[in-house]
Amino acid sequence: MNVDYLIVGAGLSGLVMAERLSSAGARCVVVERRSHLGGNCHDTKDSHGLFYHPYGPHYFRTSSPVVLDYLSRFTGWREAAYRVRALARGKIWSFPINLRTYEELIGREATEDEFRGYLKTPDRPPANSRDAITSIIGTDLYDLFFRDYTLKHWGRPAEDPSVCQRIPIRTNRDDRYFTDSFQAMPDEGYTALFERMVVASPHLTVHFNMSFEEARARFPHRHLIYTGPIDAYFHYRFGALPFRTLRFELEEKQPHELDGDGHAQVALQINYTGMEAFTRTVEVKHVTGQSSRYSNVVREYPDRYVPGKSEPYYPIPAPAEEQQADLYRQAGAEERDVTFLGRMATYRYLNMEQAVTLALHKADELRRRHRWADGEKLKVEN
Ligand code: UDP
Repeated sequence: MNVDYLIVGAGLSGLVMAERLSSAGARCVVVERRSHLGGNCHDTKDSHGLFYHPYGPHYFRTSSPVVLDYLSRFTGWREAAYRVRALARGKIWSFPINLRTYEELIGREATEDEFRGYLKTPDRPPANSRDAITSIIGTDLYDLFFRDYTLKHWGRPAEDPSVCQRIPIRTNRDDRYFTDSFQAMPDEGYTALFERMVVASPHLTVHFNMSFEEARARFPHRHLIYTGPIDAYFHYRFGALPFRTLRFELEEKQPHELDGDGHAQVALQINYTGMEAFTRTVEVKHVTGQSSRYSNVVREYPDRYVPGKSEPYYPIPAPAEEQQADLYRQAGAEERDVTFLGRMATYRYLNMEQAVTLALHKADELRRRHRWADGEKLKVEN
């Protein structure tokens, strides 16, 4: 079957492209190696009908009206307070670091001014993530919350300052993980949102359990949108790019394991900042609004990545990996009629807002570049 766009990957980036382009009249096919929509944003339900995120937590937030308006076409929302606590030295701490955390450290009440006095002002740009954090909070709080967690999560110290800088440090008592103006979960889950995007895409077909190679042979296309790992596209020509992978264990919780509010843990997410084998446990019931006698928790273990075998999750932000990724990006820029998009194909850490923003821009650009002569044919204007 001839199509205008072959879209590889049914994750957030691929589905935004599919919806935008097919709504403009293009014939699109989405192919997906796995058997479900949504890529790693996919959510599903346990044996008691409670949501969980099998590929790790996805906490939607945005300050972009464009992203919010677009996604709101496919879902309603349920406002969410994303609250995280840290478990360190056998004790639960307020996290991200705020005035309360400082009070817990010194064992008494304190003022904002006192905490400000404790914090330092960096006098030079940070050389790495450790530097970025210790130059503000010193080594005590760094060792407590960042040192081991970072080592576990990445399997090495984080070179790029941006990694640990994702976590805010506040002198007031605001303990929200994010500060975006809009923080909410899709009211019927992410998978329902993705299903509605597909339904809203005229004539779109989605093929599951299909490899890129098979799809390429089966669907001659004018333009390819590729959202898989970019090194795999080029058959690892410049060596396999290192990603970090994760393993998740679902724990269904019985009524006797829950507190009076029906929860298995005190917050949506607990970070384990010591040398436990896992980094976090997530109980999405805190933000899905589902009421039940049961609950569930997903425990997250960082794991070694085996190219072509493991599921890739995190590109490694470090100079050597950036250089290698640049070789692939340059090769990608030279491919005719191919667009590389999303976290795996750009080898960049993207949150959901960034992924949607980039896909909307790219779809607009392609819609301008590719003009349809009539309902059937796509005339490519270079
Ligand atoms: N981090 C940490 N301790 C924590 C939480 C985060 O050391 O309790 C560091 C770690 O290096 C992590 C980074 O901060 O990779 C970003 O954390 P975030 O919670 O944003 O991770 P993500 O949700 O992107 O996996």
